[in-house]
This record gives sequence, C-alpha cells and structure tokens, in this order.
Amino acid sequence: MERFDAIVVGAGAAGMFCAAMAGQAGRRVLLLDNGKKPGRKILMSGGGRCNFTNLYVEPAAYLSQNPHFCKSALARYTQWDFIDMVGKHGIAWHEKTLGQLFCDDSAEQIVAMLVAECEKGNVTMRLRSEILNVSRDEQGYTLQLNGDTVAADKLVIASGGLSMPGLGASPFGYKIAEQFGLKVLPTRAGLVPFTLHKPMLEQFQVLSGVSVPSVITAEDGTVFRESLLFTHRGLSGPAVLQISSYWQAGEFVTINLLPDIDLADFLDAQRAEHPNQSLKNTLAMQLPKRLVECLQQLGQVPDVTLKQLNIREQQTLVETLTNWRVQPNGTEGYRTAEVTLGGVDTNELSSRTMEAKKAPGLYFIGEVMDVTGWLGGYNFQWAWSSAWACAQALAE
Ligand code: FAD
Repeated sequence: MERFDAIVVGAGAAGMFCAAMAGQAGRRVLLLDNGKKPGRKILMSGGGRCNFTNLYVEPAAYLSQNPHFCKSALARYTQWDFIDMVGKHGIAWHEKTLGQLFCDDSAEQIVAMLVAECEKGNVTMRLRSEILNVSRDEQGYTLQLNGDTVAADKLVIASGGLSMPGLGASPFGYKIAEQFGLKVLPTRAGLVPFTLHKPMLEQFQVLSGVSVPSVITAEDGTVFRESLLFTHRGLSGPAVLQISSYWQAGEFVTINLLPDIDLADFLDAQRAEHPNQSLKNTLAMQLPKRLVECLQQLGQVPDVTLKQLNIREQQTLVETLTNWRVQPNGTEGYRTAEVTLGGVDTNELSSRTMEAKKAPGLYFIGEVMDVTGWLGGYNFQWAWSSAWACAQALAE
C-alpha cells in the first residue's frame, strides 16, 4: 500500500492549487480525480478564457450561512497573490468589466500553470481514479481505489459541488462529510438561468437573444445592475445568474429595464418636441426594437402617439418597464448552473485551516463547502484562497 503525507481528492481549481502548494512545501502529495483530465471546469470557464479572479474580492460577495467564515482565507491569500502567480507564468490578462479578470488567450493557460505548479511540488496526479471506500484509523486515512489502496496522514476533499454533472460533478464530498459526522446544508443550483411559466414563456420566446441593461432585485432586497438576456427557455444573462443565488422557489424578482433614464421625464421631453411621434418609436430609442414590438403586441405598450398617451397610461407604462415583477417557474438546475449553493456546513470547519473539527486530518476546500461567490471570478478566488489556507496547514 502506497503512503503519502496528504491525499487530495479532486483535480479541479482548489485541489490542484492545494496539492501544488503542499507539495512545494515538501509534503508528499497524491492528487486523485475521476476524470480524464484535470481542471475541466477551468477549461470551460469564462467562455474559454477563465475569469480567474476579481479585482474587488471582498467577503460581502460570498453567500454562506456563516458569512464570517470566508474572511480569514480571503485575507491571507488574496486576488493580488493569484494575479502575481499568473504574471510569473507569463499569462497575459485583461479586465473585462466590474473587476473581472480574464486570460487574453485561453483558460488552458491556467490549467497548464496549475499542472506546472503541481510538477514543481512533485505531486503524483492520478486521473480516472474511482474512490470506492474511505476509512480512518490512528495512522490517518485509507482510500480503496479501483485498482489499488492508498493511505495518508491527511485527506483533503476538493471534489466540488453538483453543478454540471457533465464535467464530473458528484456528491462525493457531501457523502464523505456525512460519513465523518459533519453537517451538510441543503444544496441548490446557483448562478443559473430562470425558466418561466408557460404563458409567459410563450409570450417572450420571440425575444430569444435580446439583451438589455437592467437592475434586478430579489425579495430579500439584494440588487444587481447587469445585463439581462431573453432566452428560448426563459431569462438569463449576468443579472439573472447573479440574482438566482438569492432567489427561492415561489418568489418574485423585480426588473427595471430602463435603469439609466427617468422614463417619465424622457417621455415628457420627447412629447414636448415631437408630439406626433409614436410611443413605439420613442421607446425604441431606449430599448431594443424587438422588445418594444413584443410589448406592444402583448398590449403593454399602447399603439398611440405621444400626445395621445394619457397620464394614467404613462404611469402604467413606467411601472411595467421599470418595476416589472416576474415570478420564475424555476431554474435550469444543476445541468447549467455555474455553482452549487449550500454544502458542507462551515461551522464544522476551521476557517484558518479548513480542517474538520470532528475529524482531525480531514479538510474541505473550494465549492464543496457552503461558501458561494458572485459571478465574476469570485468562485475561483475562493478555490485559490481556501486551498492555500489548507496547504499551509498541511505544511505545518
Ligand atoms: P471543481 O473545479 O468542480 O473540481 C472538482 C473536481 O473533483 C473535478 O475535477 C471532478 O472531476 C472531481 N471529482 C468530483 N467527484 C469526484 C470523485 N467522486 N472522485 C474523484 N474526483 C471527483 N468561477 C469563476 O470564478 N469564474 C468563472 O469564469 C467561472 N466560470 C464557470 C463556468 C462554468 C461552465 C462552470 C460550471 C463554473 C464556472 N465557475 C466560474 C465556477 C467555478 O468553476 C467553480 O466554483 C470552481 O471550479 C470550484 O472549484 P473546486 O476545485 O472546488 O471544484
């Protein structure tokens, strides 16, 4: 039976980074993954360019039942530390919007960087490894694999959440947590498009592909100002993905489709100058024409000129366009979700080391635990920060 100082399960963002850092600190590390290649989500991320961190990382950008938990790790290994590593590997990057940093060329560069860091730490990486059983004795943890048995003093679970089963997501981490008596909080899909109820879906399906700037508000008061995209299944775009993490089944979201103007003022000014201009053409100065036409067909934009639009109609129109209340039917679920909310309860873990309080030598890092970031590089930063904190503990 081969023995290591630490075994890391999951060669994703957190697992690779943790294995590399612990290896470079002199630990003998085995990194296991059930997939054919490492970092599959990284390769898919950011439209193939990997939004690897965000300039404005702060604890407030993370959802968790224990909002203080993420503070220590985020402060000890920051976005600047990761940017520094990316720079040392000669990877060119740019800020796209809202502090989101992407590779200029390809997400493959981030995976190649992590593989190189693992090699530098002499990490043994075994892909296509199925873990059949995990047990613990006084010496540490023993893993029965398809083929052989391996053991280590420390076991790090970096197997991620449930989102995108097509990219290897599995409930492995939650099962291990439960096996060792740790609480696992209910999970749900986050950063995920909304589906709409049938009548509404049919009304708006013609708008598939139309994108508008918006301000979107959840029932708990959380607000995002980003673009909204109509799709053939419902609503998506950054605004919807962000708010989906704050949305519970049955709740409404409120959408302002004209966040950059005061619509009433705009209509009044246009009426003063062009009283015979159609309302439709006036709105098309501020909104995509397809959206205005669709709303007119639904009877929400009266087929009138500006001088014919009476005060009550104008008030209703302003309400419709700036305070549009939508009750999603649901979300597209884990199949397309970027992240999984919930997971291993952080009250069970040390915020300094990520070690389970009830199971010495067992660690959880990355998405498997109940820490979920906003869209925009925040989730990868949590993977790097939590992995780094754990690696320091493995090296102690
Ligand atoms: P993962 O990266 O999911 O890694 C888990 C690994 O564990 C996988 O390799 C998996 O194969 C392995 N594994 C699972 N079960 C087992 C098992 N039983 N045995 C062995 N191995 C197992 N976040 C950002 O910050 N920026 C982005 O641009 C971004 N884009 C995204 C795009 C997509 C399409 C998706 C799905 C997510 C995106 N995210 C993004 C979120 C980000 O990818 C995750 O938050 C991050 O990958 C979590 O890292 P992790 O290491 O915890 O888990």
